[in-house]
Amino acid sequence: MISLYIHIPFCLAKCRYCDFPSIAAKKDTYPAYVSALCKEIKLRHQQASPLKADTVYFGGGTPSLLSVNSIATILTTLKTSYDLSPDAEITLEANPGTVDLPKLQALRKLGINRLSFGVQATQDFLLKLLGRIHTLADTKEAITAAKKAGFQNISLDLMYGLPRQTLAMLQESTAWALQQEPQHISIYGLQIEPGTPFAQMQKEGCLPLPDEDTVETMYDFITTTLPQHGFERYEIANFARHGFASRHNLAYWQDKAYLGFGCAAHSYYNFQRTYNTHNVYEYIRSCNNNALPVFEEEKFDNQTWMEEFCFLALRTARGIDKKKFQENFHRSIHDVYGKNINMLLTQKLLKENDAYLFLTPAGMKLGNIVFEKFLL
Ligand code: SF4
Repeated sequence: MISLYIHIPFCLAKCRYCDFPSIAAKKDTYPAYVSALCKEIKLRHQQASPLKADTVYFGGGTPSLLSVNSIATILTTLKTSYDLSPDAEITLEANPGTVDLPKLQALRKLGINRLSFGVQATQDFLLKLLGRIHTLADTKEAITAAKKAGFQNISLDLMYGLPRQTLAMLQESTAWALQQEPQHISIYGLQIEPGTPFAQMQKEGCLPLPDEDTVETMYDFITTTLPQHGFERYEIANFARHGFASRHNLAYWQDKAYLGFGCAAHSYYNFQRTYNTHNVYEYIRSCNNNALPVFEEEKFDNQTWMEEFCFLALRTARGIDKKKFQENFHRSIHDVYGKNINMLLTQKLLKENDAYLFLTPAGMKLGNIVFEKFLL
């Protein structure tokens, strides 16, 4: 079983913190992109078929900017090329302000059964500062419409560590998000990425970020509050009501194969990772010439596979499946990492039971320190 990812690289405007592969392109680029995307799906299908898929994820960018017809065309092409299971999880990332009730009803009818809304915060001045195009009123409207359209699996994204954000504001955003009764919440700590307007503002000394202690308090607040309200922390930054963990994202962390379509998408299949070009126009040109838009391929050797297997699994609450490690690599995990595992256990960053090795809450906070110890 594989997972399918579709990248839609368009946004109405670029947020000030964003270094994701997305552009604020004119709408007249969308049809050419969708047609190229369908060509890529068919091209890859010739290389890797027949394959059964059980999750589809439209990510971006802002996939909800595409018309319902375009999303229908992409889904039909996927279904013709891959054996999509009848109960497949089909997610669409949507920005409040880009959807209304008729559109959401049509998307639901197409088979999209999970929506992920980029809420980020509930204070309009913060949203404006981030460069988001939506307001709290838009978010409220979008969630109400999604429920009315029949969506029963809704995820909300929240951000912390934002310029001018206080703990009280995060508390207000979290309380508001909980009141909407979503099935899933993802949290993101703001990272200042090079080349973004925020990086420039920071350089110029005009980005009033909260201090490190406040950010840590924010992290502690949100990671303890969500479980108190019935959300299971199934991955470092992801919380879900029972049975609503994202199957698509879990597939990545559980080392399962996936195919990514669209510019800047990655695929992981047959121990090989391929990276598509980031340039939208180059992507369209390449697909139109019947060539895969791949700019880099990486064959996984045993060592890379082992490291990735550990990093990815450690992100999840369940952790590393020790039996699976032994089956994959014909050695016990203690043979390979014994010294570091013992050190991390002593530092209480890692815990172990008969079947799994997993991060403690302190380990989740200091994830990068733990992951480093699994580099060979
Ligand atoms: S909407 Fe998302 S992808 Fe688009 S610019 Fe903002 S953060 Fe980036």
